[in-house]
Amino acid sequence: MPSRKFADGEVVMGRWPGSVLYYEVQVSSYDDVAHLYTVKYKDGTELALKESDIRSLSSFKHRKSQSSSSSPSRRSSSRSRSRSRSPGRAARGRRRSSSQSREHKEDKKKTVQETSLVPLKPSENNTRSYNGEPESNERNDTSFISLEQKFKPDLDIERVLEQYSLRPRKEEKKREEIYSEKKIFETIKTIEKAPSKTKELEFGGRIGTFMMIFFLPATVFYLLLVCKQDDPSILNFPPPLPALESLWETRVFGVFLLWFALQALFYLLPIGKVVEGLPLSSGKKLQYRINGFYAFIFTAAIIGTLLYFQLELHYLYDHFMQFAVSAAVFSMGLSIFLYIRSLKAPEEELAPSGNSGYLVYDFFIGHELNPRIGSFDLKYFCELRPGLIGWVVINLAMLLAEMKIHNLSMPSLAMILVNSFQLLYVVDALWNEEAVLTTMDITHDGFGFMLAFGDLVWVPFVYSLQAFYLVGHPTTISWPAAVAITILNCIGYYIFRSANSQKNNFRRNPADPKLAYLKFIPTATGKGLLVTGWWGFVRHPNYLGDIIMALAWSLPCGFSHILPYFYVIYFICLLVHREARDEHHCKQKYGLAWEKYCQRVPYRIFPYIY
Ligand code: NDP
Repeated sequence: MPSRKFADGEVVMGRWPGSVLYYEVQVSSYDDVAHLYTVKYKDGTELALKESDIRSLSSFKHRKSQSSSSSPSRRSSSRSRSRSRSPGRAARGRRRSSSQSREHKEDKKKTVQETSLVPLKPSENNTRSYNGEPESNERNDTSFISLEQKFKPDLDIERVLEQYSLRPRKEEKKREEIYSEKKIFETIKTIEKAPSKTKELEFGGRIGTFMMIFFLPATVFYLLLVCKQDDPSILNFPPPLPALESLWETRVFGVFLLWFALQALFYLLPIGKVVEGLPLSSGKKLQYRINGFYAFIFTAAIIGTLLYFQLELHYLYDHFMQFAVSAAVFSMGLSIFLYIRSLKAPEEELAPSGNSGYLVYDFFIGHELNPRIGSFDLKYFCELRPGLIGWVVINLAMLLAEMKIHNLSMPSLAMILVNSFQLLYVVDALWNEEAVLTTMDITHDGFGFMLAFGDLVWVPFVYSLQAFYLVGHPTTISWPAAVAITILNCIGYYIFRSANSQKNNFRRNPADPKLAYLKFIPTATGKGLLVTGWWGFVRHPNYLGDIIMALAWSLPCGFSHILPYFYVIYFICLLVHREARDEHHCKQKYGLAWEKYCQRVPYRIFPYIY
């Protein structure tokens, strides 16, 4: 028996996952292990389908002609029923009784299902039927509209429909979708995606990722060494290297382990709500406990108590390099552990971006998507806990070290600004912890060296560079300058927060009446792309806000050296690269709809610049 029925390159009819609609697709590849075909829709969307969801073109045409020729067929009967119900009545504005209306709804639901069961054949006389955008766009789109209309009937959605030529040909169709809205939303959630092999390698592929494994720790090491110098010019290269044995202290490593264990303990506390993440390729949803903010409060209470009992927190400053080395060693050990355990992980649990089959690449990107020990999610935990909260503690240690070293009764204005701005950023991230579940890090990238090192070393030790710099290089800033920098940070924060909230709320509930003023482009997946509000201003307004804040964090350090500006320079590079990655994924996900969005919103991050 052949193991596969359809060949690569063959044009077939593929069922739109979760629905009963078929579209013309081309087979791209077949996964022997998962028994899934990767197929490409005409708008560029790629999905994985089971063989049972694929039909040959010929059988399709055959079935269609059969159904249309047999007069009492389900199709024709449903059609006539649908005609008899329809637009005329609505147009005349007759009101039905509630029972009639219920019956009507049932009929309509049935009608939609029945008519949909008949395969669609792209026919010669149906020139509009398929312009590259699967017709389910219309269905999904109208389902959004119907939900919105339910809440806010005067919603001005017409313009979006007209603009993108997505108006259903008959009013009746629109009303049918209204009744089938629940079904459509359910089906969207169960879209299957292939846990297929990673074909497009990022970050310079195997060579690039191999080099990054050395380059990233070397950069941290270099930055910290330069920052400790009296003259922290980056041109002082190489900085004087410390003796190798001075980089390691077992006690420091013990403190680091204790910190990690403490945060793990807070993570395990049964407080805070439990939420579901986005559906995985298997359709399964993982559960996550949202208690990062509590973890922060408990940590603050413990640090406060220890300070009260004269804990010398500047120990952190005195052994800063050793802490960074400990964290780096730990993250390397963790990455090796993650890679080894990922070798036993089932195929569907591997990361879509870290399953290339190349050891170094998969080790760097992360082979397994959501490695868990029981219910302990290692990636989710490391994303926001030990590193992010650690960053705030390091900043505080720098503040205390500054006071001690320079005999100050209170910290410098520059140090206060840096600490406050970054504290706000961390608290915001923990307060909105749930939002991390929809980020690329959680949904796309595996947990490997990139995130382990990034979360546990890069974030706490590089992001605290400004505070570290200020300890050794006191900077005086005037009050007007402080006010101007604070305003800049507030503007950045406002853009960052409102853009993220706007998208997160829209994703969570597109029918939220509070968002009814926003316009969006419908897409084949059922999700809309906002084209007004922040997301109509630039394509990544949240990155813009983040970059403005990054600048505000560096400015208190004055203009003597470029070192404290490392963060903002690196961050622009990171976000420009991240934006390109996201753009690529969105193009694959949304096809034509994404192109329309890009035409409508031409600038990526910086308005009129980029
Ligand atoms: P984003 O929050 O920018 O989300 C990108 C996703 O949003 C896309 O994949 C798409 O996903 C959706 N989307 C894109 N355009 C639209 C639109 N017009 N309407 C609706 N949805 C749209 O992702 P990130 O994870 O990169 O960033 C999250 C936050 O984290 C940002 O504020 C960023 O600045 C910050 N960040 C901070 C870092 C740091 O080190 N400090 C590092 C990286 C990020 P879909 O359609 O599937 O929902």
